[in-house]
Amino acid sequence: MRLIMATNNQGKVKELSALLSSDFEVLSLKEAGFEIEVEEDGTTFTENAVKKALETYKVTKTPSIGDDSGLCVEALSGAPGIYSARWAGEGASQDELIGKLHSELSGKENRKAKFVSVIALAFSEEDIVIAEGECQGVIIDEKRGDGGFGYDPVFYVPSLGKTFSELSLDEKNKISHRANALFALCDKLKERGILK
Ligand code: IMP
Repeated sequence: MRLIMATNNQGKVKELSALLSSDFEVLSLKEAGFEIEVEEDGTTFTENAVKKALETYKVTKTPSIGDDSGLCVEALSGAPGIYSARWAGEGASQDELIGKLHSELSGKENRKAKFVSVIALAFSEEDIVIAEGECQGVIIDEKRGDGGFGYDPVFYVPSLGKTFSELSLDEKNKISHRANALFALCDKLKERGILK
C-alpha cells in the first residue's frame, strides 16, 4: 500500500518506512510529485495532524499521513506546545528557541517537560486513524551534545542520563515521542488487520 506523508522532511519518511513492513511504500509530497502547503492553524497537535492528513488526502486521493509535534513544559502550563517552532518568532534559530525557553523558565524550579507527537493517517475523508506518543524529560540549563535539532540539547532524559542531542539517531528513534506515536499507529493498524 502506498502512503503519502504530508512533509518534505526525508528524516520523518525514513523513520516511518523503517517501522512499517515492506507492504507499505511511504513517499514524501515531493517524491509523490505534489506541492501542497497546509497552514498549521489548529489549536491542538491533533487538529494540525488531522488537517495535514485530510488536505493531503483530498488532493492525492491516496492514504495520507499528517503529523504535528512540540515541547510541552509543565511550569509553563504546557507552552510552547503547538507553537514550538514559532515561539521565538518566525524562522527563529535553535539558539533563539533555547534562549527563549531558558528565560521563560528562569527562577522556576519545576523543569519537567515532555515532547508530544500526534500522527494522523487518512484512509478517506471519513476514516482517519490517530495515534499519539510522548517522551518525558527535564529541561537543563546548559546545552549538552551536538546531534539533533530544535530543543534537543537541553531536553534531558533522566532514565538514559543523556540529552536528546547526546543520543545517536538510532537511540533517539527508539524512545522519542515520534517513535512512540509511530508504535501506537502500528498497533492500531495491526488491530485493523492492515499490518502484520
Ligand atoms: P514539527 O512537528 O516538525 O512541525 O515540529 C514542531 C517543532 O517542535 C520543531 O520545530 C521543534 O522546535 C520542536 N520539536 C519537535 N520534535 C522535536 C525533537 O525531536 N527535538 C527537538 N525539537 C523538536
